[in-house]
Amino acid sequence: MYDLILTGARVIDPAQGLDAVREVAITGGRIAAVEPRIEGRARQRLDLNGRILTPGWIDIHAHIYPGATTWGIDADAFCLATGVTTIVDAGSVGWANFAGFYDYIASRARTRMLAFVHISGIGLTYGPLGEMEDLRYGDPERTAFVIHHWAEVCVGVKVRQGGFQIGPNGVEPLRLAVKAAEYTRTPVMVHIGAGPPLPEILDLMRPGDIITHCYQGHGGGILGEEGRVLEQVRQARARGIVFDLGHGGGSFRYSVAKEALAQGFPSDAISTDWHSHSLETTVFSLPETASKLLNLGIPLEEIVRQTTAAAAAAIGRSADLGSLEVGRVADLAALVVREGEFTFADVHGEREQGRFRLDPVLTVREGRLYWPDDLRAEMEEARAKAHRIRALSNKNFAALGWKPGA
Ligand SMILES: [Zn+2]
Repeated sequence: MYDLILTGARVIDPAQGLDAVREVAITGGRIAAVEPRIEGRARQRLDLNGRILTPGWIDIHAHIYPGATTWGIDADAFCLATGVTTIVDAGSVGWANFAGFYDYIASRARTRMLAFVHISGIGLTYGPLGEMEDLRYGDPERTAFVIHHWAEVCVGVKVRQGGFQIGPNGVEPLRLAVKAAEYTRTPVMVHIGAGPPLPEILDLMRPGDIITHCYQGHGGGILGEEGRVLEQVRQARARGIVFDLGHGGGSFRYSVAKEALAQGFPSDAISTDWHSHSLETTVFSLPETASKLLNLGIPLEEIVRQTTAAAAAAIGRSADLGSLEVGRVADLAALVVREGEFTFADVHGEREQGRFRLDPVLTVREGRLYWPDDLRAEMEEARAKAHRIRALSNKNFAALGWKPGA
C-alpha cells in the first residue's frame, strides 16, 4: 500500500537519463517506484496528465534570512508554491549570525534550507556598506568551524568580489574564502560584478568552485572587450569551475546571455538570487527565471538538469538530492509548459517576448503536497515584509508612511 501515486505526467529526471511518461509512487516520504505502470493500491492517486514532473527544484543562490539581514526574504511559502524543495542562502550568514539562521529559519522551514557561509563574519546584515571593505571581518577559521559543525546545512563559502563589497581589498577576500573552503573541503561561490578583472579571480578558484552572476552586465564579466567569451573563462569551465546564473536585481542582462549562448556558453545552474529587492520586481520565481533561458533556446531537459541534478552537484549533494531514484526523499515539482505570448524582462528593463512559460502547479516535499493556492496568504505576508525592508534600505520613507522630522 503506497501513500501516493502520481500518474500521467511526463517525468524528466536528467540524473537518470529519464524522459518519458511514468507513474511515481511515494511511501513514507520516499520515492518507492518509478514505472510505466504501478500495480498496487495507494491512499491517494493524483492525475498529472499534461504536466511535467521532475525532481524538486534546487535554487542555489537566494537570500532567505529575513529580519536579520537587509536582503532577507521569508522564502518558505514562495518555494513551496513554485516547485522549489531546496533553497540555498548565498552568504546572508557569516559565522557570527549563523546560529540564528539555523535555529529560527532553516530548522523551522518546510523547504530544505541550506547555506553558503559568508567569509565575512557579519554576512549580509547591512546592505548599505560592503561586508569586506574591512578585511578584519574575514575569518577563515571561524567560518570553517561553522561549516564543519552544521555540515548538514552548510554547503560551502560565499564571497562577493564586486568593487562595492571589497573596497580597496582586491582579491584578498577571495583568498580568505578559499582558505575556509580548503579547511572544510567545500566549494566557494564567488559573486562577480565591476570588481577585479575576472581572470584574476578565476586564477584563485579551484575545480568545483562557483562563479555566480555569470550573465551580469556591469563589467568584470565573462565577455571580453569585443563581446567574446574570455579564453580564461573557457579554460576555467574546462577545469571544472561552475557558472551559475544568479539573476537577482542587477545580475541578468539579456544581451550578455544571448552573446554567451551564441558562442556556446550556457550556464551550468540556474538560480534566482531572490532577495528583498529582486522579489517580484525582477525575479518572480525559479521557473519564471528558467523560462527566460527556455525561450533563448535552451532545451527543456537541460533546463531541468540545471535546476535539479546540476544544482545538486554544485552544492555537493548529488548523493541525496536532484533525482527521483527509488529510495530518495520524495521531493518533486510538477509544472506545466504554457504556450502563448509572454513578456520577460532583464534587470536593465530590456524586454523579450517568449512563446513558452514554465508555470508551477504542485510541489511535493518529503511526500507532502503543496498547492500554490493554499500558500497565497503566507506569500502575501512575506511580500509585505520584503516591501518594508526594501523601502527602508532605499530610504523610501514615503512608502513607509513616515516623514523624518515631521
Ligand atoms: Zn546574492
